[in-house]
Amino acid sequence: MTKNELDIADLLDRIGQVVGDAARPVPLHEPRFDGAERDYVLETIDTGWVSSVGRFVNRFESDLAEICQVPYVVATGTGTAALHVALLLAGVQPGEEVLLPSLTFIATANAVKYCDAVPHFCDSEMDSFGIDPGKLDAYLRDIVVLRNGVSFNKVTGNRIAALVPVHIFGHPAKIDELAELSTRWSIPLVEDSTEALGSKLNGRPVGHHGLLSTLSFNGNKIVTTGGGGAILTADPDLAKRAKHLTTTAKVPHAWRFDHDAVGYNYRLTNISAALGVAQLERLPVFVDAKRRLAERYMTTFDGFAGGRILREPSGAESNYWLNTLILDEGCEGLQEDVLQAANDAGFMVRPLWTPMHRLPMFKGAPAMDLSVCESLSARVVNLPSSPGLELSRAG
Ligand SMILES: *Cc1c(COP(=O)(O)O)cnc(C)c1O
Repeated sequence: MTKNELDIADLLDRIGQVVGDAARPVPLHEPRFDGAERDYVLETIDTGWVSSVGRFVNRFESDLAEICQVPYVVATGTGTAALHVALLLAGVQPGEEVLLPSLTFIATANAVKYCDAVPHFCDSEMDSFGIDPGKLDAYLRDIVVLRNGVSFNKVTGNRIAALVPVHIFGHPAKIDELAELSTRWSIPLVEDSTEALGSKLNGRPVGHHGLLSTLSFNGNKIVTTGGGGAILTADPDLAKRAKHLTTTAKVPHAWRFDHDAVGYNYRLTNISAALGVAQLERLPVFVDAKRRLAERYMTTFDGFAGGRILREPSGAESNYWLNTLILDEGCEGLQEDVLQAANDAGFMVRPLWTPMHRLPMFKGAPAMDLSVCESLSARVVNLPSSPGLELSRAG
């Protein structure tokens, strides 16, 4: 496919067919509050329980545990905070290295830096946009030396302290293969599932492979608490420590203020959790709407010359958090034109995040070959994906 075969007018026409008469500009992803949100939030105000203790925080955690089919959930103030604490609990120490994709949102890499650890970037694969397990396998064989069952980077001498796969845009990464590598190299697995609430792999919700897994409820995610996150784990001790560290490491007591570590004020508030509980009641409806929207994008872009819509990987049932158009190889030079024309036309399409290894803070960080990440970042355009585009449709 050559550059000239991408017809931007045709592309805009097809986006227009999918979004229909939605008000312009059409956002990339907009939250929807059509359930009990108002009632629950007002209840927190009326009862005075707006802060970090209250029935909605507990209910939010237990609802999430049920939805994600994991035993323990600790709600946090943001997804980034969840990642930070998950990495600490996985045992990441200053100066150690954490494997993560370069193709991710900044929060994953920032959380590594908050631990004073070193991000070590991995390449992605085309089926899920997640870390490529085959490439990681070959790379680890090349750079890792095992000493007493602990993996060290033989180039830098640092311990490799965690592997953090990300389920990009709600598509489950090749997590079974990545978990196998984590076991083989004794590198703890921490899942960044922040984009994948409601996504399943082989019939089971994502987020149970890691020692710990994380969610986000930022305003643009599939369900929102305004801002929020959660740590998931099957380990009762890790769950207890997660709650302790996110609650300023306060030693429980009726009136004393004793703290046994430098903890964090990372708890989700009850007012946010109230919003979250109402949103979770709507999750099945949102996932269903988003899957139907994805289906319409795929049908509408059938036969489009110059690109294709990303489909869920085999075995996966994705929440299709964002719909993704991948321009064909050779069309890299047109990505900027597509973004400009679509935004001018009132479709708030967005590119991939700038790859982490190209940001000034992470220049010179250790990395494998990142050619797939580089190629995707020049070819991906994310399309309007709000659940309301389906739920508000007439007829
Ligand atoms: C949203 C997101 C997070 C967490 O973000 P917060 O805004 O802190 O909740 C982390 N990683 C990825 C990949 C994300 O998309």
